[in-house]
Amino acid sequence: MSLSSVVDRIDALLPQTQCTQCGYEGCRPYAQAIAQDGEAINRCPPGGQDGVKALAQLLSTAEIPLDAACGEHAPLTVAVIDESHCIGCTLCIQACPVDAIIGANKVMHTVAADLCTGCGLCLPPCPVDCIDMQPAQHEWSIALADKARANHQSRQRRLLMQHPEASSLAARTLANKASLSAAAGHDQAAKQKIIADALARARARRAIPLP
Ligand code: SF4
Ligand code: SF4
Ligand code: SF4
Repeated sequence: MSLSSVVDRIDALLPQTQCTQCGYEGCRPYAQAIAQDGEAINRCPPGGQDGVKALAQLLSTAEIPLDAACGEHAPLTVAVIDESHCIGCTLCIQACPVDAIIGANKVMHTVAADLCTGCGLCLPPCPVDCIDMQPAQHEWSIALADKARANHQSRQRRLLMQHPEASSLAARTLANKASLSAAAGHDQAAKQKIIADALARARARRAIPLP
């Protein structure tokens, strides 16, 4: 079996939330690390122990416990924006790996619940802390994972076209955030305080395990 087909088969077993809890930029980079570098198969909290078991079976290796250092497995949640507090800064859109947030500059934003993977990556950038994770009214499924993978790939292609000079997705996302953050306000000290406060809130929230 070729390396790319092994990566495909590993990727097919990953939940596609693109949450980065495994330590990689998304599910496919993690799949590549498992296939190419022998990365551990127990780093995906959204996949849970069942996911580790499936990977162990695919790769004919021993099942090991989910690595708690990456996070705990938890029920699916979805992001909900308090539209009355949203200032339309678009930072959450830049952070969402699957284009689940709808909005435009200075317009209130909303989350398409059927596209949201519950990754929580939109929380830290929000300067007014108006995004909450709430229990999903549906279960995660292979069909939703397939949709999330397609949406993530579509976003990556778009970012690559917009920022061909940057080689990593993280660099491109951060570049977007910087320009949008600058557009959000001209008082540098005030802006830094807003960002510091938002990060502190986000870190406190991160203490709660994400799905
Ligand atoms: S769901 Fe999250 S932790 Fe699991 S492989 Fe994908 S990005 Fe990594
Ligand atoms: S809306 Fe937020 S929680 Fe949902 S997929 Fe996008 S970044 Fe993740
Ligand atoms: S980051 Fe927060 S304030 Fe900015 S658009 Fe998103 S929800 Fe609204």
